[in-house]
Amino acid sequence: MKILKRMAALELAFCLVLGCSLAEDFSLEDFWEDDLIAEDTYGDVTWDFPIRLSDMDPELIRIANQDYLLSKDFVPDTLVTIPARKANKDGSNANNGMLKAVSSTMQLQATCAEALIELSEAARADGYNLYLKSAYRSWSTQNTMYKNRLKKNNGKDDGWVSKAGASDHQTGLGCDVIPKSWINASGMNSKMAKEKECIWMAQHCQEYGFIIRYPEDKEDITKIHYEPWHLRYVGIPVATYIMENGLCLEEFHEQLQAAIDRFLEAGGNPAVVEPYIQRSAE
Ligand SMILES: [Zn+2]
Repeated sequence: MKILKRMAALELAFCLVLGCSLAEDFSLEDFWEDDLIAEDTYGDVTWDFPIRLSDMDPELIRIANQDYLLSKDFVPDTLVTIPARKANKDGSNANNGMLKAVSSTMQLQATCAEALIELSEAARADGYNLYLKSAYRSWSTQNTMYKNRLKKNNGKDDGWVSKAGASDHQTGLGCDVIPKSWINASGMNSKMAKEKECIWMAQHCQEYGFIIRYPEDKEDITKIHYEPWHLRYVGIPVATYIMENGLCLEEFHEQLQAAIDRFLEAGGNPAVVEPYIQRSAE
């Protein structure tokens, strides 16, 4: 991440001197290949994976799903309230913040909140207003939502609301971001993917460290319906890798665990990889 920012700053300085455009000259892909696909060596053992361990924050890649449940007590320790932006009628406003689709207070992990505001500002610069509909949810809030959904469905889990502990929203890194036209919709469904705001998010989210957490073609793996609105923060290197390779977070972790196994088999120090191993609370 630091390298990434330094490179971007250098590139910016270079471009300013030469008067060239950033968009034309700055490409994540250019140094992705040279710098990010690099080897890390711990003792005699090489970390054999496209992303360096130092470019993955264990906190930010934590998975929550039916197989890897978060505990009832898990609360992210850097939750911050999302600054709200009161928009002018034309959607313009210079204040930093995020348009909100609901009036309640919403929280996310600090790094994710910062990145989400950057993403929404970039979308706005391209002419799209994004609205935050849902962010961090505690275990007990999720539990209530799940029970209510079951009641509505005669006790059947329809795959729209995760059970407590399995929700990406409990990580404080998952959020639902929607176009204005869907604010008053009675529900959300995959048709939203056709909205220009969602097309923009799918194209650009990784530049800000986000992935589409529940992709269209991965429902059999995520066990969750396609949700073009659900963004998940994982950091730029991991997001770029996931989006460019068309993966879901479950597949990413499968690859990561295979790399961890290779590292350990080669005699690597278990303490080095321990923070990256996913474990279920139950
Ligand atoms: Zn969601």
